[in-house]
Amino acid sequence: MLQKANDLLKTYFGYPAFREGQESAISAVLERKNTLCVMPTGGGKSVCYQIPALMLPGTTVVISPLISLMKDQVDSLVQLGIDATYINSSLTNQEASERMEDAAAGRYKLLYIAPERLESPYFTGQLGKMDIPLIAVDEAHCISQWGHDFRPSYRHITKMVDGLAGEPVMLALTATATPMVREDICSSLGIRKDHEVITGFERKNLSFSVVKGQDRGKYLKNFLKQNKSETGIIYAATRKTVDQLYENLKKGGLSVSRYHAGMSDADRYSEQDRFLRDESAVMVATSAFGMGIDKSNIRYVIHYQLPRNMESYYQEAGRAGRDGLPSSCTVLYSPQDIQVQRFLIEQSIEPNRAAAELEKLQGMADYCHTESCLQETILRYFGETETEPCGRCGNCTDTRESEDVTKEAQMVLSCIIRMGQRFGKAITAQVLTGSQNKKILEFGFDKLSTYGIMENWSAKDAGSLIEFLISEDMIGVEHGTFPTIYVAAKGKEVLKGLRQVHRKAAVRSAEISTKDP
Ligand code: ADP
Ligand code: ZN
Repeated sequence: MLQKANDLLKTYFGYPAFREGQESAISAVLERKNTLCVMPTGGGKSVCYQIPALMLPGTTVVISPLISLMKDQVDSLVQLGIDATYINSSLTNQEASERMEDAAAGRYKLLYIAPERLESPYFTGQLGKMDIPLIAVDEAHCISQWGHDFRPSYRHITKMVDGLAGEPVMLALTATATPMVREDICSSLGIRKDHEVITGFERKNLSFSVVKGQDRGKYLKNFLKQNKSETGIIYAATRKTVDQLYENLKKGGLSVSRYHAGMSDADRYSEQDRFLRDESAVMVATSAFGMGIDKSNIRYVIHYQLPRNMESYYQEAGRAGRDGLPSSCTVLYSPQDIQVQRFLIEQSIEPNRAAAELEKLQGMADYCHTESCLQETILRYFGETETEPCGRCGNCTDTRESEDVTKEAQMVLSCIIRMGQRFGKAITAQVLTGSQNKKILEFGFDKLSTYGIMENWSAKDAGSLIEFLISEDMIGVEHGTFPTIYVAAKGKEVLKGLRQVHRKAAVRSAEISTKDP
């Protein structure tokens, strides 16, 4: 059977060999095992259901939330000589029911549908008449509350499957590998824990870096000047920033496109199209852009502002270098981004889920403050345990000597304890540096022995040391009405003198600025 799959890969798709994971996923499906396939963006998930679809009798149904992608996918399948179609809200009712009747008559090998369709009884009724050997659930993390892109209509999938005559194999596909999301997908779709195909998430051609403490406008300008001939994406957190950046870059003479949910469908489509056709070199966008985009020559992805969590970050950054050539992924970090993202989360998410989201945001902040390998930090976040420093990222290539900051860390940790472990980062930094802030006097923190113990530091530098200790798991964060910090197990060891703390960025900004001309 796998020989047949191999032949199809060559004859239909023109690829010489399977990539990691594709073969296991395909053979699991052919053995009629419900399967979860976790591969990084660009890993080649589509082939995992397209090849079985060609081998199995009947029509494979592909559920996908990506309306813009469906048409492209179907067009390229049709070009390959494969009978495929899609049904989504871009069609008129008339067109949709015509296609559905054709599908019910068995005209297609692949039928792509948007999950919203599953809410229509007419539609599920038609599906009930069909011979469906396989249901592929693309972007399967959308089924999970814990995913970064929960879609309630994904919850209708199981009901639809129950209404079918036969018993199709379920193949769920996603690039999100966090254990909670995986568990949620498996239990919703009836996938056994040992039926997961997970490929390594390392992207060996990507080099990650975090740029801190620089004017990001200037950084970006310089970067674009040096990479004029390259194609890249710049992600910003809000529509407003996208528009501003777009105008600025355009004024600077760059060929640039933009994309966000506030634009009309037609504008978004034409902007995206220009970028995909290499008519513009730079795409400035919110995270609304890019799901399902298959552009192989993206040389860099810059996050102008902090992304809201590691899941979205890795997915967005992962759009760089799909062709396997060296590419860069950079986050331009500024502490106030945390506030922006906090605000966006608190505005858009029901309170009972906000705490989980804020915790994920903290994961993103930790990424920006760690001095460990960035690729490793990402892989660990996604549950990989056997990792090694990549040797390519901004931290691996940082040649500064690290300094012993154990004493300073102890000052911070003991101050947190003296303050009762129920206050935030900012006020702790102020106590350490001896601020006269009214709140500090009201709480009587000026009477603590740790008050002003770091008075030759700026509150900003003390704050960044706290962030660093958080990223090292020495300080923990609790996300209540507002975030509070406490001394974690590793921090207790530091206090007892059982563990030392080393930091490369020990040079403080006050020292840097006096040295500047
Ligand atoms: P994903 O859905 O995982 O993000 P896709 O299925 O869109 O990824 O595939 C990403 C790219 O890799 C596409 O350009 C696809 O044509 C290519 N691809 C997929 N499988 C193979 C393979 N076995 N060999 C070479 N290229 C492949
Ligand atoms: Zn590294």
